[in-house]
Amino acid sequence: MEYCKNDIVLLKIEDMGSGGEGIGKADGFPFFVKDAVIGDEVEAKIIKIKKSYGYARLEKVITPSSFRVNPLCDVHRQCGGCQIQALSYEKQLEWKARKVRNDLVRIGGFAAADIDRVMESIIGMADWRRYRNKAQFPIGTDKEGNPVAGFYAGRSHSIIANRDCVIGAPENKVILETVLDYMRRYHISAYDEKSGRGLIRHVLLRKGFASGELLVCLVINGKELPKADRLVDALRRIPNMTSVSYSINCRRTNVIMGEEIELLWGSRSIRDRIGEVTFQISPLSFYQVNPVQTKKLYDLAVEYAGLCGKETVWDLYCGIGTISLFMARQAKQVFGVEVTAQAIEDAKANARRNGIRNVQFFTGKAEEVLPQKYAAEGIWADVIVVDPPRKGCDEKCLATILQMQPEKIVYISCDSATLARDLNILRHGGYELRRVRPVDQFPNTVHVETAAMLSKAGGK
Ligand code: SAH
Repeated sequence: MEYCKNDIVLLKIEDMGSGGEGIGKADGFPFFVKDAVIGDEVEAKIIKIKKSYGYARLEKVITPSSFRVNPLCDVHRQCGGCQIQALSYEKQLEWKARKVRNDLVRIGGFAAADIDRVMESIIGMADWRRYRNKAQFPIGTDKEGNPVAGFYAGRSHSIIANRDCVIGAPENKVILETVLDYMRRYHISAYDEKSGRGLIRHVLLRKGFASGELLVCLVINGKELPKADRLVDALRRIPNMTSVSYSINCRRTNVIMGEEIELLWGSRSIRDRIGEVTFQISPLSFYQVNPVQTKKLYDLAVEYAGLCGKETVWDLYCGIGTISLFMARQAKQVFGVEVTAQAIEDAKANARRNGIRNVQFFTGKAEEVLPQKYAAEGIWADVIVVDPPRKGCDEKCLATILQMQPEKIVYISCDSATLARDLNILRHGGYELRRVRPVDQFPNTVHVETAAMLSKAGGK
């Protein structure tokens, strides 16, 4: 077979790539087709051919898949936020569970039969609508020169206007309209990435689902926000508005937030509650975006830790101390380590707020704090919990964990590829994988959270 760019191919979509693209074969040659769903029969136009695969654009769905659903969002194809809204939720869950399993086998080198024995069913949501408590809307300018808010298109930085994202809080819309209205009225410019000019870069929005409290933080390319009092006057009229601030970021970077927060009105943080623990959350602190699933994830982490009240627990990458405080109620003592100073401030305040005294927090990188404390103080752990960002744990951190020889390691991961890589290192260090369970924190996207538990090989 010889295929060329612009040829039309007929494909039966049989799988999905890691970015959510449908994969179908023409004469055995695989093509990735964005927006085609497993089970679809489609007509697609070839846009690029590589050695062993190609890319094609969806032209027409000839026979729709039985897993195809009507997406709630009008811009689901253009917007890069969700990738798989057109796939039924059940099928999304099935795909995510298989992805975790396959990564553990292919990248982690585990035997498929071992994974099938220890892996438990994925935990999904009963109703995924409006699950996110956080959104970071980029601000730009449309062709007519008006300010717009939306999300980036996939793999690009062009803004798809959308003020009412179906996975975000309903209040986002009125907040964004208020910000855009302020920009129009006072001729406040939107940032332009190409030229590096213009003021408003992003609007960060957060909502405490349990408290209802709302936080707005404008990220600006300048030292101050003109007519800030007018913006505050308008925003504070929105019910439950709790915190209005801005963050200065004048660097030409993809990093969204600046390093400091300037409070304009209200509190520096908002509150939320997960289970029986209340938290304060500042704009710069990490906080899980799906509180309903977070409760299930943390309960699972506590179950995996199997605490009886006598244990010393280290919670690495602890953020605002959420997992630490969940564990503290059932452990002798908990130590948390986190690199963001503001998150550690939140963590300490959260311990006080909940009257939890058997926790201590350290600011710094896990791969530096843990080895230093181990070398200098010979610290001990019965259970070590890690919850790193997507790139996974640093090798030095894993090496120290192995030296410390905890009874159990609980690994919470938002990227199954790096999870698999790190579990392989722990396995070679004498630990055995006992339990694994994916938790769907991010419906309609290709992302999935996974909890895993290891204990010393030979034990149980
Ligand atoms: N366990 C927390 C946070 C998990 S997100 C929760 O469930 O909310 C990962 C956290 O790791 C973030 O707060 C991030 O700031 C922090 N982090 C990133 N790199 C780190 C490092 N090298 N050492 C310690 N913390 C790090």
